[in-house]
Amino acid sequence: MHTGRISFDKLPAMDVTALLDGLNPEQRDAVAAPLNHQLVLAGAGSGKTRVLVHRIAWLMQIEHLSPGSILAVTFTNKASKEMRHRIEELTGISPKHLWIGTFHSLAHRLLRTHWQQANLPENFQVIDSDDQLRLIKRIVRAMNIDETDFQPKQAQWYINQQKDEGLRAKHIQPFNDPRAQTMVTIYGAYEDACQRGGMVDFAELLLRAHELWLNQPSVLAQYQNRFRYMLVDEFQDTNSIQYAWLRVLAGDVIPVMAVGDDDQSIYGWRGAKIENILQFTEDFKGAQQVKLEQNYRSTSNILNAANAVIDNNPSRLGKKLWTEGEAGEPISLYEAFNEQDEARFICEQIEQWKIANSDKRYEKIAILYRSNAQSRVLEEAFIRAALPYRIYGGQRFFDRLEIKNAMAYLRLIQNRHDDAALERVINVPARAIGEKTVQQLRTLARENGSSLWQAVTQTVEHKTLTARALTSLTKFTQLIEDMENTCSDIELHEQVDHVIQSSGLIEHHQKEKGEKAQARLENLDELVTAAKSFNLEEAQEKQLENAPEDALIQSPMEAFLDQAALDAGDTQADEFEDSVQMMTLHSAKGLEFPLVFLAGVEEGLFPHKMSADDPVRLEEERRLAYVGITRAMQQLVITYAESRRLHGQEQFNSPSRFIREIPTEYIQEVRLKATIKKPVSNFFSTTAAKEATGLNIGQRVWHAKFGEGVILDMEGQGPQSRLQVSFDFDGTKWLVASYANLKPMDA
Ligand code: ATP
Ligand code: MG
Repeated sequence: MHTGRISFDKLPAMDVTALLDGLNPEQRDAVAAPLNHQLVLAGAGSGKTRVLVHRIAWLMQIEHLSPGSILAVTFTNKASKEMRHRIEELTGISPKHLWIGTFHSLAHRLLRTHWQQANLPENFQVIDSDDQLRLIKRIVRAMNIDETDFQPKQAQWYINQQKDEGLRAKHIQPFNDPRAQTMVTIYGAYEDACQRGGMVDFAELLLRAHELWLNQPSVLAQYQNRFRYMLVDEFQDTNSIQYAWLRVLAGDVIPVMAVGDDDQSIYGWRGAKIENILQFTEDFKGAQQVKLEQNYRSTSNILNAANAVIDNNPSRLGKKLWTEGEAGEPISLYEAFNEQDEARFICEQIEQWKIANSDKRYEKIAILYRSNAQSRVLEEAFIRAALPYRIYGGQRFFDRLEIKNAMAYLRLIQNRHDDAALERVINVPARAIGEKTVQQLRTLARENGSSLWQAVTQTVEHKTLTARALTSLTKFTQLIEDMENTCSDIELHEQVDHVIQSSGLIEHHQKEKGEKAQARLENLDELVTAAKSFNLEEAQEKQLENAPEDALIQSPMEAFLDQAALDAGDTQADEFEDSVQMMTLHSAKGLEFPLVFLAGVEEGLFPHKMSADDPVRLEEERRLAYVGITRAMQQLVITYAESRRLHGQEQFNSPSRFIREIPTEYIQEVRLKATIKKPVSNFFSTTAAKEATGLNIGQRVWHAKFGEGVILDMEGQGPQSRLQVSFDFDGTKWLVASYANLKPMDA
């Protein structure tokens, strides 16, 4: 077993210097350690991911492991891409053959290769969580189960939870608990439907890949032979099935480096187990423990604030983190009147930043929030201010309705038994196949244990419906067959183009009119573009698969569909234009930005109201706060609003406890302009102004010259009362109520 420092002088000097440059002694030890198990447990920004990247480079260059014998797990597909890039930069060796990916993408790759041994059809489809939910809904309905008692969403949650624990329906003993019995029945029916249709959800990818190891010793042996070293980033967020998959694969033969931070475990709600960190040292015998304590990312103000917040969590493994960095600017804290004002403030700050840093890119800035729903108001403000932005997660491209419809047609062409796809498009655009007909098809499919497509053809054959319904169904099947014929010998993007045209989707959205319809049409166009650019990547991907077991025999369309399904489940976004990055705190893990805004830091929102009363969940929320704060390198701005309209309801939240947990010495409150009086301190005057004008703060109004805007503040009395209005196109102005002649607008 390795102890103490390595003597580096025995190794080829140049390579070694290049690889160990820019690492501190502890990091170097980890990178250059012998090929044993290692656990790097260290705080945010201490260089864990950097160590992992350098370690891979070291294995290739100094230990001479072939790229194909190294497996690395990252948390997002985006992180995988970055890692490949970094490794190539460091070593000059092409990282093409490295196995780098998320647990999901690696499992997917294995199942594509070993579909037979995994008991899957060759053309199995990966379904995303929306499709999964729709399928479960259908099953619950078909079983005549009361949907109010057994909400499909709950059943989905239940099923995924069981899968994450490695349990199939047949493994679960509900005993005399009738509720559990029903859940297990739903789970079983869902498993059957997926198996019949060749559909694989995200949790299933992991479960099957694990079962592949357990049931096919020869496959396992093949990979145990192949891999000489494995690495896992963000180890604190692995769930039971992921850990088990890794554990079985490693066996007693493959050394593993796990890298993580217990203070950043934020997926407990999705089955992640911090305990895996402790388990690791037991299961992976002799694991060398590495501590990294120096933070290289943030100013000391930011780091101290983060340390102070996380210190309030009672159950921590306990780590110290320090920096040589300068104090930097204090953390800015802004109290907004409402969510509109918050968004406007953030835009103004970004505009000022850009003036001061005209040479810097917008992508240096991130806006982080607790809940996806917060993004809409921010987006609107950004559009008004003509600031470029991009949302990671949230309304992702492949999550959009029109895209999902188009993809469903494509999936149906590939696999008629994809019930989720058929359900989605059988009557979109409308072709006179009503809910009643669909219900009859479902019943028939259930009775025969067949797919919906089979039910359709059977119905048509036996003419068991009204003539009208039969005509519509015949037309539909004909349409899909025709599509397949046309698509059989044209390029991928031409296929996509053909399908969105001939399905009638384009026409359907053209008829809708309006902004939204326009956007949908643009998105459909964008899908053709995506298919075009996919071809290229796909060709490269193909070249890379040279080992026989890696030769994925997939058509470009199949590969395209899989990629889309995986993308929709990830935080991936395309890098087209330089833009401010908006994302949930969860998607920000592992990333860093010079300027970070944490928006909506209010009780009820963050910590989330569902978590505030549960000590375990509250700790997870606090870790999320720690993750958020430690994303910032130079500047952190925290905002909260006195009142907030979210999900159509007005809330009055107090500032989050996480703000109070930051010592005041690190914080500076921002007052936008000295002239603005805040409504609270101004209560009587506001009330008077409200009476005089009949208008409210937060209300949208219309002005003859400036157009639409929102009222931010009011003061004064009677005809002299003044209103502060933020106009969509003309900025913020104070107006005298009696002259302004503002017209209230409907929400
Ligand atoms: P997180 O917990 O957020 O994932 P991490 O521990 O993975 O963080 P990294 O992202 O690897 O940390 O590193 C944080 C920043 O510090 C990066 O910009 C990295 O390049 C830099 N860094 C790490 N180690 C050093 C070092 N020895 N010298 C200079 N910069 C370093
Ligand atoms: Mg990291």
